[in-house]
Amino acid sequence: MDSIQAIMSRIMSPQRAEEIIQRARKSSKELTPRERAEQEAKVFNSTPGKLIDYECEKCMNRGYIYRVKAGETPFGQVTYDVVACKCDCMKIRDELHRMQNSGLQKLLKRYTFESYKTTSDWQKYVKDKAYEYIDKCSDWFFFGGQPGCGKTHICTAIVGALLKKGKAPKYMLWQDDITKIKQASSNLEVYEALINSYKQAEILYIDDFFKTRRGDFVSTADVNATFKIINYRYNEGLPTVITSELSLEQISQIDEALGSRISEMANPKIFIKADKNKNYRFTRGNENDV
Ligand SMILES: [Zn+2]
Repeated sequence: MDSIQAIMSRIMSPQRAEEIIQRARKSSKELTPRERAEQEAKVFNSTPGKLIDYECEKCMNRGYIYRVKAGETPFGQVTYDVVACKCDCMKIRDELHRMQNSGLQKLLKRYTFESYKTTSDWQKYVKDKAYEYIDKCSDWFFFGGQPGCGKTHICTAIVGALLKKGKAPKYMLWQDDITKIKQASSNLEVYEALINSYKQAEILYIDDFFKTRRGDFVSTADVNATFKIINYRYNEGLPTVITSELSLEQISQIDEALGSRISEMANPKIFIKADKNKNYRFTRGNENDV
């Protein structure tokens, strides 16, 4: 475990860290060892950190919460040490950093509910369903349709709203991330860790499901890796947001087991179809109506 000084030095200047530690120690001369440790932890916990991107009330943006840990020397003497524990917000921050690298951070700024136009009925329907989804955040949200119909916009807005609520949605750009998973398959440990991060995510947002480069066929390896993620989330009932250019029917034609699981879990299931004049038509519920 890192020393308190080392951890504090990462979130503030070394001089400031030393100053705070000295202040905590000075004010606790008359106390019992346990009280002294608690006093130190309290001073550390009241010092704001300088992490950005996400406001955390719990750790005041330090990323760590300090607590007192009791121990024992080999001679049976009880000791009290201040230890630093990672705050829950670090999971959210990690995901935000990943999103920044993947370009989703830019999308989060651009694609908000405020910037989503609702000039037609179907857009109003989609927005209402998105709001409902944020409130309940169970089930799956499926939004299929042609490029330009606002799938990424509304689903990114959902992810942004969930982040604000303190949830930690995980972003998966299907084609890129499924390729990374397949490439990791030669190292079982790495492969399991990687695929588990998608399987077990609190909320998973899969963008462009089954979209391949240059419209190649979806391979058996693609289907198998995807099935492991989808089937786990289906069994565990974990919330999942999916966008795809394909309809659920088309997904089922590629793989029946996958299509039927998504179809069973999704509420709502939306599919937008454009005619040659780019007038969008949409269906809700059973897509076989398209
Ligand atoms: Zn925190």
